[in-house]
Amino acid sequence: MKKSKDILNINNLARTVWIIAACLTITAVLVVATHRTVGTTFLSSNDGVKSVVNVSSGDSLYKLLLAQGMGPGDIDTVAKLLKSDASIATLRADKDSIEFVRPNADSPISKIVVVPSPWRRVELTCDDGTWKCNTIDIKPDTHVVYKSGEILDGDSFYLAGMRAGIPTGILSDVYDLLAFEMDFERDIRAGQHFSVLYEENFCDGKLIESGRVIAVYFAAMRGDVKMYRFKKSDGSTGYYDSDGGGAIKSLKRTPINNAKITSSFSGGRKHPVLGYTRAHKGVDFRAAMGTPIPSAGAGRITARGYNSGHGNFIRVRHNGSYETLYAHMSKFAKGVVVGTPVRQGQIIGYVGSTGLSTGPHLHYEIIKDGHHVNPMTVKLPAIGNLGSNDKQKFIEYRQILDQAIEKMSKNPNMFIQLP
Ligand SMILES: [Zn+2]
Repeated sequence: MKKSKDILNINNLARTVWIIAACLTITAVLVVATHRTVGTTFLSSNDGVKSVVNVSSGDSLYKLLLAQGMGPGDIDTVAKLLKSDASIATLRADKDSIEFVRPNADSPISKIVVVPSPWRRVELTCDDGTWKCNTIDIKPDTHVVYKSGEILDGDSFYLAGMRAGIPTGILSDVYDLLAFEMDFERDIRAGQHFSVLYEENFCDGKLIESGRVIAVYFAAMRGDVKMYRFKKSDGSTGYYDSDGGGAIKSLKRTPINNAKITSSFSGGRKHPVLGYTRAHKGVDFRAAMGTPIPSAGAGRITARGYNSGHGNFIRVRHNGSYETLYAHMSKFAKGVVVGTPVRQGQIIGYVGSTGLSTGPHLHYEIIKDGHHVNPMTVKLPAIGNLGSNDKQKFIEYRQILDQAIEKMSKNPNMFIQLP
């Protein structure tokens, strides 16, 4: 069901009008194509006789086209065109549907329409015995919506976010962003508020999927965290804090999402296995056996091995100053060896309990200029701050976005459309 919402356009009204007009056109084009029923439906229109077939398990393109009276030669041509021009090699049962068009009820098929995604429509037309393939990209009607929530006693950010109605995919992205700034163990308290601005992609008035996170706000213990998605003049996008500083840091404090800290960094603690006091040079995150471990930042693997304390461990060098270490792994990711370059977030191994460990967890260390630092408090360098020209544009954009957020916080049915 489509909720009635107010439209507040940030840049200009004309754009909104254009988007609505475009959407109405798409709606008109798609009204027959998206009509779905079980089995075959026959519909008549000015353009000919249409029938829509929903693909079920056991169906193949060959079988469906043969059932429509097409000959093996034409079927082969259509299959080759779909593969070469639209990269469609197989049909998906219970997902895809095919529309067939004939000029008259008893004439051969003149047009075949395959809809592989809500944003793509593939049309094959036959003219004088020659088949042609045409792919139409459909622009989503994107609404930017606002959701806010509050942390309650005993809550996790995930629970509070789900209660606020934020989709899990968006929550996961928000967590990834906040993890650069926040220590989810110590920064979260009952009574804290948060809000998220994110995209919802509509087609034909129907919500199809969530898009990207546009802005995040969290009233954390160590101060408010605000992040905004912004497109730079070179076309690249990133997340920035209120002042235009890069929100994405070169390293993540918590490599594994939503993992509870079971032991913090300290100068001296009683070791659970050895029984005597010694420094804990990293942070322990509790996680299930086999949980993938992503690299905290981009870099190169400098060590991969086993020792009695760390068990299976990996060391990554990120730049001249920073290294990270991951211990107690059950196994290493395939293809990750000494010298392998890794991206931020790339899986390098899996949680285990090898070495001196009392149960499955990740022991994570950050080493700065050869010295161990506390991953939860070390100030991490940002990736890509804005240049002065972009910064000026960002500040203006951010102010407009803040005003929109202010209005939306008072009217939960409101959405905005960004240029
Ligand atoms: Zn540890």
